[in-house]
Amino acid sequence: MSISVAGKKFPNHVQIQEVPNLEQLARVRKDGLILIRPQITTSEFADYFCGKTQKGASQHKKKVLERLTIKGWGLKRILGIIKTPTDVRDFLLLHELSHLEHKDHEIKKKLSELELTQIETRACLEALLHLEKIAQN
Ligand SMILES: [Zn+2]
Repeated sequence: MSISVAGKKFPNHVQIQEVPNLEQLARVRKDGLILIRPQITTSEFADYFCGKTQKGASQHKKKVLERLTIKGWGLKRILGIIKTPTDVRDFLLLHELSHLEHKDHEIKKKLSELELTQIETRACLEALLHLEKIAQN
């Protein structure tokens, strides 16, 4: 049976596995397995998203947030949609689905910092737009 997240059906091969102490909040493997940290609170999410934690991935998120803000998605608007741990989870899963749908893992060349930021921004935007649509219904 395929997984459904916030009303969006995921491809059949996509599976979710909870991994406590995962370095990132979530990531997806080539085979469609999405790894996600269990029970992420909204404040953990906000800190990570703002680059407040020391890890490299989080510093990169800061640049993504700058781009999202330019596109009209400042942190306030994001947190207006992501209000519960379930919303955090839905957002992260939809974000990873975007990577799968765009086959980001199949890009062979080494991506520049800018290209990585663009890909991450797109994945965030797709997830946010879906959650916003759901929230309006
Ligand atoms: Zn991503």
